[in-house]
Amino acid sequence: MTTVTTLLRGIDLDAEGRQAGSIDIEHSDNRHDDGVIPVPVVTLSGGSGPTVLLLAGTHGDEYEGQVLLHRLMRETDPSTVSGRLIILPALNLPAVRAATRVSPLDGGNLNRSYPGDERGDPTAQIAHAVVTGLLPLADLALDLHSGGANSIYLPSTFVYAGPDPETWQRKKDAAEAFGMPWSFVVPPRLEPASFSAAADEAGVLMISTELGGGGGVDPAIVRDSAAGLRRVLAGAGVLRAPDGTPTAPPTTWLDLGRGAAVRTPARGLFEPLVTLSQRVAAGDLLGYVHPVEEPERSSEPVVAHRDGIVAVLRRPPLVDFGDNLLHLADPVPEGGPA
Ligand SMILES: [Zn+2]
Repeated sequence: MTTVTTLLRGIDLDAEGRQAGSIDIEHSDNRHDDGVIPVPVVTLSGGSGPTVLLLAGTHGDEYEGQVLLHRLMRETDPSTVSGRLIILPALNLPAVRAATRVSPLDGGNLNRSYPGDERGDPTAQIAHAVVTGLLPLADLALDLHSGGANSIYLPSTFVYAGPDPETWQRKKDAAEAFGMPWSFVVPPRLEPASFSAAADEAGVLMISTELGGGGGVDPAIVRDSAAGLRRVLAGAGVLRAPDGTPTAPPTTWLDLGRGAAVRTPARGLFEPLVTLSQRVAAGDLLGYVHPVEEPERSSEPVVAHRDGIVAVLRRPPLVDFGDNLLHLADPVPEGGPA
């Protein structure tokens, strides 16, 4: 069986200090025949303490988390680390290189590919390397997402409820320490082949984020989430937060369960009439879809099917049947999710 140790180039996971290398994924196609896909890895180790696994670039077009990890891995003195940070800022490297959500090599959505397959396509091999080689080492894992080119999220942490009362409480504590303005809770094992589900399966404390999106990098979100990340790492006891790191602002919990999506009623140009964080009621007009090729046809109204807060907005206006236009989340009662 291939292990992560045999795939890791340039890194001894037990060594102290800063190391930079890659997980080399073998692949054979017109470009990679006999070559590898070198997924970048940096470890920062300062001796005894917890291990924290930090992932970004699970989806290649989600940039805030990638930026956060590039900063952290270059700016952190390993002697200030109590334990070990394992940082992979471009996890699905083919997708990051192509600036796309999924891998252009195999169409793989890494966050639907766990636990992976060591003999599978590149995306499945990456998932397998993470879940068999790195996740078991971790006391805490973070997978940093944003909305990507197709959508913008309220800047938020994102957690699966469960899998047991103690871990669930620790996830909530970590999300509150991250201190984004919003925190989403979704049902347990929402996507069974996601990294969140893999971490729950492995019994590793894990939280995710949705740090804006739209295919860009928002400086205010990067600033706030950098402070949040440092608070979470400090809470784990692995890295003291720099002097001047603000305390965690309060977060508002939202339930983003199934049934939150508003799908387009027509093909055409979507014109939203609502903005992120806006509260709407069932029956409210949310926007229009304007048919592009049928000037004689009326624009199609988009109507809220339920009460909620606009949590996610589609980015490119051109839509087709089956596309999400936005998501309506439920406010969670005072005191946070149970
Ligand atoms: Zn994502």
